[in-house]
Amino acid sequence: VWENCLGFIRDNIQPQAFKTWFEPIRPVKLSNKALSIQVPSKFFYEWLEEHYVKLLKVALTRELGEGAKLVYVIKLENTYGNREPFTEKIPSTNRAQLGPQEMDVPVQSKNPELKNPFVIPGIRNIKIESQLNPNYNFDNFLEGDSNRLARSAGLAVANKPGGTSFNPLLIFGGVGLGKTHLAHAIGVEIKDKYPERTVLYISAEKFTQQYIESVKKNTRNDFIHFYQLIDVLIIDDVQFLSGKSGTQDVFFHIFNHLHQNGKQVVLTSDKAPVDMQDIEQRLLSRFKWGLSAELQNPDYETRISILKNKLYRDGVEMPEEIVEYVAKHIKSNIRELEGAIISLIAQSSFNKKDVTLDLAQQVVEKFVKNTKREVSIDYIQKVVSDYFEMDVATLQSKTRKRHIVQARQLAMFFAKKFTKASLASIGSQIGKRDHATVLHACKTVDNLAETDKQFRKYIEDLTKKLS
Ligand code: ADP
Ligand code: MG
Repeated sequence: VWENCLGFIRDNIQPQAFKTWFEPIRPVKLSNKALSIQVPSKFFYEWLEEHYVKLLKVALTRELGEGAKLVYVIKLENTYGNREPFTEKIPSTNRAQLGPQEMDVPVQSKNPELKNPFVIPGIRNIKIESQLNPNYNFDNFLEGDSNRLARSAGLAVANKPGGTSFNPLLIFGGVGLGKTHLAHAIGVEIKDKYPERTVLYISAEKFTQQYIESVKKNTRNDFIHFYQLIDVLIIDDVQFLSGKSGTQDVFFHIFNHLHQNGKQVVLTSDKAPVDMQDIEQRLLSRFKWGLSAELQNPDYETRISILKNKLYRDGVEMPEEIVEYVAKHIKSNIRELEGAIISLIAQSSFNKKDVTLDLAQQVVEKFVKNTKREVSIDYIQKVVSDYFEMDVATLQSKTRKRHIVQARQLAMFFAKKFTKASLASIGSQIGKRDHATVLHACKTVDNLAETDKQFRKYIEDLTKKLS
């Protein structure tokens, strides 16, 4: 079967790519329609999944028919401390095959058949798959100043789920800073310490889909009962619930039930509770019952250790200056940091030569360019003050003169619109105001934009300058 697949793949890609990515693969097992293949490293698996998953799917389906599955077996070197070498099986995350509903779920489940745990409502002792990704654990969640509070709060919760005052534990922070990783790590650790507890990781998006589905099928009560059985509920990206009042309502009831029964709730969000919009007040106030811990941008040291750790785990060596170069230039997103290093590893293994600083520059540039540059609050203040012909200090000053107040409010409005900064952080950067002042400013600008023609012109001009 594999030989035939290879034949098909060979005809469809560059010979060099075939040689690099397909020749090293060994078929290990075929059972039913699931073909297991052995790949040399985790990195190799990630690369295949990212670049060749469609091709693999077509090739496999041609051989085995609809429903064909691919299971990766990774030969791990003995690089994890003193552990024995072992193999790790990862079912293919083949997106086309799983359909849009499953995309959010890291499918590291040992039992791929049990992907949907919501099948037997009303039966006790229901088996609930945690949906946890064992690759996201505390061991490989490196500690630094930027994450110390969140990490140790997570550990405390993992040691005593439901038994600390961190209930709920809300982890918040920008994209790619480790929220999902930490959320899984907490669950994985709890499963390890308390195997009998029912842990469930789910994205807020998937939770919402399930809820909507349950309403459609008239099984809303089963949905609620199911969630009330859980000991540790981990919901990722709760900002997704904003504006979804039905889902918020049902979550509110589930939350109260769990909380009253001493069950642990862990939430993540890309915003602090004060900055969450269109989330019901009663829910926000629940979020504040426990602890909100922020994941901040990693400092240079932490970035270096994350890169080195990644290289170490993939068994790749790279010159110090390259690692430093990458860490210096990619600052605010750990996913991109990893992406850049993965790309470098790939290029070096592809061309079978060492990574040069030159290559590192190209790769980093691509990463920095691809990610939409965010304008800074400093820059916004500069542009707005220039536009109104005043200096930044005047814009920030305490004066109540109308045109200065307006300029200040516009700066706040644009900071809210064009950056991911929280209201509190915008306020502190624009003349040490509090978050309520910023919120007020944004509302005032919105109102004026509707009623005042001259003001609308300001907004249009400034929007052009800033974007
Ligand atoms: P978020 O959910 O906040 O967008 P993720 O949890 O998906 O971010 O993290 C992005 C990537 O960065 C993941 O591959 C994760 O393993 C890695 N990562 C984040 N924080 C750390 C850390 N402290 N140590 C090691 N890897 C990290
Ligand atoms: Mg995430």
